[in-house]
Amino acid sequence: MNNKKLKDFLAKNNQPGFRYKQIVKAVYQDAVASFSDISTLPRGLRDLLGKKIDILPFKVIEAVVSKEKKAIKALFELSDKNIIESVLISPKPGTWSACISSQVGCALSCKFCATGQMGIKRDLTSDEIVSQAIFWRQYSREYNIEGSYASIVYMGMGEPFKNWENVRESIKILTDKDLGNFPNRGLSISTSGVVPGVKKFANEFKQVNLAISLHFANNEKRSKYMPINKAYDLEALKNALQYYFSKNKRKVFIEYIMLNNINDSEGDAQELIDYLLSIENKKLLHVNLIRYNTVDNNFTPSSRERVKDFQTFLLDQGISCTIRKSIGDDIHGACGQLAGKSK
Ligand code: SAH
Ligand code: SF4
Repeated sequence: MNNKKLKDFLAKNNQPGFRYKQIVKAVYQDAVASFSDISTLPRGLRDLLGKKIDILPFKVIEAVVSKEKKAIKALFELSDKNIIESVLISPKPGTWSACISSQVGCALSCKFCATGQMGIKRDLTSDEIVSQAIFWRQYSREYNIEGSYASIVYMGMGEPFKNWENVRESIKILTDKDLGNFPNRGLSISTSGVVPGVKKFANEFKQVNLAISLHFANNEKRSKYMPINKAYDLEALKNALQYYFSKNKRKVFIEYIMLNNINDSEGDAQELIDYLLSIENKKLLHVNLIRYNTVDNNFTPSSRERVKDFQTFLLDQGISCTIRKSIGDDIHGACGQLAGKSK
């Protein structure tokens, strides 16, 4: 919801000051799908709000549930007809996490990523970002989804640090006690390594989690598959991480996609280890290995054995490392598969 528009509307209609608080609480926290559900408001006001203000700035085209019922993917049509995706995932029984988009498409063209193949259409507004998370609250309520939903990951379409001002505003709204009221520590931002963004984030958000999509610890390979590395190479990224740790002593997640015969050899693992060990505060780094999810390109995932061996190799040299389970790939809702298309 556009909070400013709501405020202006209430002022113009001579409503008492407490109405604003009452309405934003109902929309953000009780997740009402319609103003007519806010029973504490006078009927006339409810009708007028329904005509003048949109609770969600997009139309929900569909919400598809995965076979194992651990992921639900929604498609939203924005007011300019662009389409974005968002996924509600249950990584552990009883726990739900919303994976939200920050842009329509992405300009960074990582070779293995479906979003990257679309190019960039535009940035999302803070309201469009926030409303994806609020939609999942509505959905959880409507469908009586069991368990708690308290985490949000900026790992959908787009590069959050290429839309910093709106992402920044969205984090503030989502964690504001009177608005989203999500815990700061429940939020995670993932970046492919946009160095100035890492620094701004480190300065401003001390409790929100940071994930770095590293994927390669060799500049030549990284630049080949992730063109952003030409602007901010591994050395620049290392400096940014050290800057982050000088401000926050929080764990940072290093994402590492496992691509068959591309970055999954023992040599690749050793390069990764050497790189991570060269970073000050390395004890605060945690590696997540993600098997490549198939999208329409020429890569194949590393075998499960290869991923396991890679993990053992890292663990043996003192790097904390887990294998991330892929959830939602049957509905094209897994990492890197979001491209604004339905199944
Ligand atoms: N642009 C940000 C946020 C998107 S997060 C970023 O890149 O970090 C999406 C995550 O999925 C990133 O770690 C990305 O590298 C990873 N990813 C992209 N394509 C993938 C694929 N086909 N299989 C598995 N992970 C993929
Ligand atoms: Fe953009 Fe992230 Fe996909 Fe790279 S992996 S193209 S940065 S969304």
